[in-house]
Amino acid sequence: MLNQHMVALGNNRSTIRELFEYGNQRAAVVGRENVFDFSIGNPNVPAPDAVREAILAEAAGDPVSLHGYTSAQGAADARKALADDLNRRFGTSYTGDSLYLTAGAAAALSCAFQAIACPGDEFVVLAPYFPEYLMFIESGAGAKAVIVPPSIADFQIDFDALEKALNAHTKAVVVNSPNNPSGAVYSEQTVKQLAALLRDKEAQYGHPIYLVSDEPYREIVYDGVQVPFVPNYYDDTIVCYSYSKSLSLPGERIGYVLVPPQAADSADLYAAVCGAGRALGYVCAPSLFQRVAARCAGQTSDISVYQTNRDLLYEGLTSMGYSCVKPQGAFYLFPQTLEPDDRAFCERAKKYDLLVVPGADFGAPGHMRISYCVQTETIRRALPLFAELAKEYQND
Ligand code: PLP
Repeated sequence: MLNQHMVALGNNRSTIRELFEYGNQRAAVVGRENVFDFSIGNPNVPAPDAVREAILAEAAGDPVSLHGYTSAQGAADARKALADDLNRRFGTSYTGDSLYLTAGAAAALSCAFQAIACPGDEFVVLAPYFPEYLMFIESGAGAKAVIVPPSIADFQIDFDALEKALNAHTKAVVVNSPNNPSGAVYSEQTVKQLAALLRDKEAQYGHPIYLVSDEPYREIVYDGVQVPFVPNYYDDTIVCYSYSKSLSLPGERIGYVLVPPQAADSADLYAAVCGAGRALGYVCAPSLFQRVAARCAGQTSDISVYQTNRDLLYEGLTSMGYSCVKPQGAFYLFPQTLEPDDRAFCERAKKYDLLVVPGADFGAPGHMRISYCVQTETIRRALPLFAELAKEYQND
């Protein structure tokens, strides 16, 4: 007898993966250039030159240590370099001992959730959310995910709804800013209000409520928007970070968990993160890319093409009647669909080979996610098709 739950997880591909596969099939029929695949969030700008230089510099070093295991939490010099970079940017005073290096944000989140989850615990997730959170919380950590509906007007936080979701079982609240899929960046006011609410609830329930801040898009912001550094506002924060997006390295699998010393039970919490990584069999993060990330600390891919794409798509779609909150970060647009049934809308869009993901997958039905990490030309050619699709609804 196999674990049927895992069999089901393996067999049920996410809608995003389904669309991606469908796009490949359509490309074989109509040609790759005629499929407008906005389904997946794979960075399409190259890693900065510094990454290549770092790889070459590391490759010229000792070939044994280059590919060897590191400490489970990551090489000490790499962790120190990354902590120093955070300190420079955010005025903090972390040491490398606050960092646990991981295979990307997915592994960081899994370690963080499993480090803190006890039987009966609830994790509050704010919609719209990255769908894999539910997988990591429920199937990975064995906790319950409690979804808070989105604040549609601006994709900040609906604090009344959040407050209703908090109770004595709440172990953590999961936030993601800049957000996938909405592109919203939480304002300082939002973060302050969130911190104040959670401090009140900690006092009321007499135990820590951790704020798990998932930040793979931290540096991908437009128009000079500032992303508040959450641990500077709320002590009981655990940061999960990734270089998948900021350095365009999603396949290399490198990121970290930051357990700030200010967090409740921080020494045990850090040990628990290491313990979770051990239980998951992670051993250590990819050693070459630990060092590459350390050498490239503070660098970001050239994201100007994302801004061009955002502007083109936002202006184009809103001028033809689509309604959308202007994203300030990440590389997603999250407009409302032209009918309440977002799945039906996304199915209809396929007629034009426009591949967009239903908002329901992110806990926000009535929306579609458009990943604009594509060639600008793809967007230029897709806009008339979005217009034709909109016309169909006017004629209905
Ligand atoms: N969190 C969010 C919000 C994401 O969008 C993604 C990937 O798209 C991840 C986590 C996982 O990223 P990684 O590639 O670092 O595992």
